[in-house]
Amino acid sequence: MEPTIKKVVILGSTGSVGTQTLEIIRAFSDRFEIVGLCNGYNTPLFKQQLDEFKPRYFNTLGEVESGYAGSKFVPAEEIASLPEVDLVVAATVGCAGMPPAIAALQAGKSLGLANKEVIVMAGEKIMEVARTSGSEILPIDSEPSAIWQCLEGEVSDPARLIITASGGAFRDRTWDSLGDVTLEQALNHPTWTMGPKITVDAATLMNKAFEVIESRWLFDIPFDQIDVTIHRQSIVHSMVEFADGTLKAQLGPTSMLQPIQHALFHPERQGNNNLPRLNAVTMGSLTFEEMDRSLYPCFELALDYGKRGGTFPAALAGADEAAVQLFLNKKIKFTQIPDIVAETLVTHEPIFKPSVADTIEAAQWATETTLARHNQSTILS
Ligand code: MG
Repeated sequence: MEPTIKKVVILGSTGSVGTQTLEIIRAFSDRFEIVGLCNGYNTPLFKQQLDEFKPRYFNTLGEVESGYAGSKFVPAEEIASLPEVDLVVAATVGCAGMPPAIAALQAGKSLGLANKEVIVMAGEKIMEVARTSGSEILPIDSEPSAIWQCLEGEVSDPARLIITASGGAFRDRTWDSLGDVTLEQALNHPTWTMGPKITVDAATLMNKAFEVIESRWLFDIPFDQIDVTIHRQSIVHSMVEFADGTLKAQLGPTSMLQPIQHALFHPERQGNNNLPRLNAVTMGSLTFEEMDRSLYPCFELALDYGKRGGTFPAALAGADEAAVQLFLNKKIKFTQIPDIVAETLVTHEPIFKPSVADTIEAAQWATETTLARHNQSTILS
């Protein structure tokens, strides 16, 4: 039987996950067709992608005329819900990824989810929308992908999820000693190469708290059954413990290509010579350490607001996005990030049982409030 061609839309095609998704799709032109591409402001790369993949539709925040390379400019939400689309890959960064991601789910599309803010903002609602429309959410973030892979084929619920954390750029320093760290130091991740926003979130461990919140909803498991452990090598991407004491781990190279490919081909495993390989003999020792939460104020803060629910997690994601942007623009110090996020969150008036629109509004409010306090008005990413 001829394999069917999956029709794919990529949101955030010029970012780190977007370009790696296209790298895999390029190698399997008989299995995938790009129907739509959406990006932010990286216009030169975006035009190259339009020239190469010739999608029928595109959306961009940059300046590309409709009809470029035979492609039509259409709103991102519309592209994500086109009848012919099978899979939408949300490789966007931050809260702006929510409207097209939710449109895809409402239209019953499979959603490859790298943009974790989407599920952090509105986890309960997102899962409800996916259930109602019969959409499948395919995790692309490496830790939730690892958990997903450990759970595949199991019929019993997991007893515990163990999310691994590299510890980020400053894992061997105390928080108090980080007052003068530079942007360049914060962007120098010890194991992963990623976009700037997530790399800063990895350094504060905000990213790890987001992954706990993400996993709580994706795998429908209470917060108190999710642990985080420091694993410096970033080879074990996460683990699952079962009732009988069995611990399953997923190991792989420190590369996003595997989790992306797993989501693209799910439920198949597909050979691909372009993927890096892990050699068990040469990979060296694997270490696991307890995480000292006192070293990471962002982690505790984020988890606290993540657990409160309502629109708090959306406000958290919005405030963090603004705080990271202020740091990337060299307007604040690294160690100010948790204080700035907390300052916004204490003034948030939450809505419980929020609609998707409520969560988008809460995130926007938090972003704008945080930026305004520091005399900035917009986020350009
Ligand atoms: Mg991750």
